Amino acid sequence: MITETAPYTTIDIDQIRLDFPILNQKVNGKQLVYFDNAATTQKPSQVIDAISEYYEGYNANIHRGIHHLAEKATSAYEATRATVKTFLNAKSIEEIIFTRGVTESINLVANSYGRHNIRSGDEIIISTMEHHSNIVPWQMLCEEKGAILKVIPINEQGEILFDEYLKLLSSRTKIVSIVYVSNALGTINPVKDIIEAAHNVGAVVLIDGAQSTSHLDIDVQDLDCDFYTFSAHKLYGPTGVGVLYGKKNILNDMPPYQGGGEMIKEVSFTKTTYNELPYKFEAGTPNIADTIALKAAIDYISKLGKSTLAVYENELLAYCTSQLLEINGLRLIGEADQKVSIASFVIDGVHHQDLAILLDGDGVAVRTGHHCTQPLMARMGILGTTRASFSKKKKKSEIDLFINSLNKAIKMLK
Ligand code: PLP
Repeated sequence: MITETAPYTTIDIDQIRLDFPILNQKVNGKQLVYFDNAATTQKPSQVIDAISEYYEGYNANIHRGIHHLAEKATSAYEATRATVKTFLNAKSIEEIIFTRGVTESINLVANSYGRHNIRSGDEIIISTMEHHSNIVPWQMLCEEKGAILKVIPINEQGEILFDEYLKLLSSRTKIVSIVYVSNALGTINPVKDIIEAAHNVGAVVLIDGAQSTSHLDIDVQDLDCDFYTFSAHKLYGPTGVGVLYGKKNILNDMPPYQGGGEMIKEVSFTKTTYNELPYKFEAGTPNIADTIALKAAIDYISKLGKSTLAVYENELLAYCTSQLLEINGLRLIGEADQKVSIASFVIDGVHHQDLAILLDGDGVAVRTGHHCTQPLMARMGILGTTRASFSKKKKKSEIDLFINSLNKAIKMLK
């Protein structure tokens, strides 16, 4: 989704950058240019403050206590759940489960829904561009149950071959688990069509929203996905907390994932009964501070307005892509028609790790390697890429710094 012209001036990037204290520093004597947002985003003061306010003002365990601090902490924690419900347009707060992040959410679904419903000979479909977190849990499930993992192929641009996907679907398909936006390519997958086709054969669909949630407006009811998951840390929130959305009727039929405090109604040595949704899936003391701060992150991003900022991000991507394409021997990895602001590339005769070291010397932080997508790298015939991923707080001048530093590094390495 590259836009040639954008209402650049309607966004005050300098003002936004003031919210991110970490950006105001030098690395190796140069102004930090942080282009590793797909790995994790930086945190605005609003999020950092929410964490310190909790620890300084009302640190207490939640749900169980009736004293002032416990009640305050519980209501702040549950306020995040209500915010997430609105943010994803879920039908009810019972559909919002807090996890440690996307990886834990997918493991939860594979272990609970998967182990309960998958039989020998059943099929699970993923795509070539999945993150390892959306491959390995399904492989483990298939191994245990004698089920079969099928993989949707992609083209050279890094787009799913939809007709091939349709051919893989059958009455044996029980689960389709697919990434909305690829972390290595930036591709935006046509998840609505993917979901509809899966439902036509009676399969449930999980959407890995690790990368999509910060870039696209998400409406789980409109998508009609059965599960949707995201991690707070890729959304200007803290690490260690994420969300699993699931349709209530499906979650109700699923057995608990972990046992312990909070997920029970009553425990005796002969029988334990389980708590209502969503607590049935939230065993033990959760990550209270960071969950509270997730609300601050969502409020922050909602106030800025995702769709307005997407236009700005697309302009940055178009600008960066045009500059990259002028570099001799550079090959973009991921040229989908529909993509977010991720530029992944390889350069003839230059190893990406060497490049990253030289860029770091100029204060430029990019990610290199396989990006936890080794099967995708194998499909593209490469070992890894250099990936620059932008966010809303980036400036064109930073892309100029990055391109200058890149050209300098290539000269040294060739
Ligand atoms: N899926 C995608 C597409 C990702 O980009 C990532 C993280 O990079 C994950 C899953 C795993 O997310 P987490 O490590 O937050 O669980």
